[in-house]
Amino acid sequence: MIKCPQCRKPVAWEGNLNRPFCSERCRLLDLGNWASENYRIASDERANQEESDSENTF
Ligand SMILES: [Zn+2]
Repeated sequence: MIKCPQCRKPVAWEGNLNRPFCSERCRLLDLGNWASENYRIASDERANQEESDSENTF
């Protein structure tokens, strides 16, 4: 068993298509966080909006 990097939920490694995440949702969430982090670094002037919704990024 490993822990999902996104939600910290214990998740089986064997047969998990979304590893190391517990689900596709967490996988996409993590990807979104990573993308928005890069986006924030790229556009430093917009750094004020820190924890806004990550679904409307694109
Ligand atoms: Zn998860």
